[in-house]
Amino acid sequence: MAKDNSGNSSRKKRSAPASVCANPLYPCAMAGAASALAGISDMGVVIHGSSGCYYYADMAVPDTLHSTFIVQDEVIFGSAERLTEIVESVSKLYNRIAVINTCVPSVMGEDIKEILADYDTICVDAPGFIGYFDEGWRLAAKELAESIKFENSKNEDSNTRSTIEISATRARIADSAIGAKSADSVNVDGVCSLDPFYKGNLNEAGRLLNLCGLKTAAVFCHDTYESIAHPSPYSVSVNPDYNCADIINMRAFEHDRKSRSSDSLLGLENVLKTFEKLSEKLSETDVDISRIESECEETDEILAKAGDRYLRRYDPPRVAVYSTYAYTGFTCEMLTEYLDAEILHAAARNTPPNLSSSSPGSDENPYNITDICDLHMIKETLSATDFDLIIGSSFEHAAFPDSAFVAMTFPIRHRKMIYDRPLAGIQGALYLMDEVLEALENGAKNSN
Ligand code: SF4
Repeated sequence: MAKDNSGNSSRKKRSAPASVCANPLYPCAMAGAASALAGISDMGVVIHGSSGCYYYADMAVPDTLHSTFIVQDEVIFGSAERLTEIVESVSKLYNRIAVINTCVPSVMGEDIKEILADYDTICVDAPGFIGYFDEGWRLAAKELAESIKFENSKNEDSNTRSTIEISATRARIADSAIGAKSADSVNVDGVCSLDPFYKGNLNEAGRLLNLCGLKTAAVFCHDTYESIAHPSPYSVSVNPDYNCADIINMRAFEHDRKSRSSDSLLGLENVLKTFEKLSEKLSETDVDISRIESECEETDEILAKAGDRYLRRYDPPRVAVYSTYAYTGFTCEMLTEYLDAEILHAAARNTPPNLSSSSPGSDENPYNITDICDLHMIKETLSATDFDLIIGSSFEHAAFPDSAFVAMTFPIRHRKMIYDRPLAGIQGALYLMDEVLEALENGAKNSN
């Protein structure tokens, strides 16, 4: 049995903490909102809070952030003056500003929208006590979509008088956007800067689109505001947990029935299905997916051969997987398909769709992935289990440093991540199996 590094194997069972703020396994909602908006290159993001909130978000989000750095004076006498001063100075650097409210000013109850009424800002009330990272990400995506809708209706109002004219202008706005990025361009969705694989995923999605003669349209959420405000109606997703295209397309172009959720590029089967669907949707563009089909076939053979070679020498591995829901499900699927792996424990940092109140009745979740954001629960489960491999973050690695390990989940601190590795697409499937086989065959001594 693997040894818990903390020496707490006899620790009395603790229940999950009642407050999300007390648990550091995954960042809070404020960091999620910051991650969603800071990737928009012409938008300045201001964290309205203390230096602690700012440095926490700055550690997690690779893009530039600004902050009001409020101290006790603002907490006691009000933060309006400080907030206005910072927004005024940051406005000189960016076309648009987003302000993210944190725990203390949120509890103070100041109306930041009212304070900033004279500025064109997106305000997101995302204090950490409302939930984890994904909660803030979704709120920010909603506010972003509202701002795009507002911009488009401003254009309509200045150009139209009657209802018929309004409809015609809406159609023109949508059609011009579709025309600009149109027939041969597709959005890349699910690009989240907290994800250690986001850049590699983006490169791989662009490569796959190029393989069948398509171009990249808007990248959600790592693009300019203008580009995101004028997306293509078609999208592919590198990480469905962080999709925004549906909410932005639906709000930006309400009448456009072509806008749909993005299809996943995680795993070979999904890559094939997604490109088959795209070629149907883009039937007028004559999309040739034959190179994707042949690359998927070749890759499937490579992975099957590598799995067989491993299984000739070893028993199927017993694996524990800890990541966000889509990555956890994708990993379980890959390892059961190519290595007959036994999934001993699989948990997501975010809420699986079948456990989420926003997706009632969803029966997806074939690997019974639960939502656990408490390292003590993970340690207790693993300490009582005979496993061969852990896939997770530096937290799991620190708890079981002698075990075979593959790094997949934020934060990854115990190894370098300079090179842009993908998890999505065909290269992503190869990368995952490469890492898993390396960790299993060379055991704990070389685990990464
Ligand atoms: S927003 Fe709240 S939970 Fe998040 S870092 Fe600031 S104080 Fe902590």
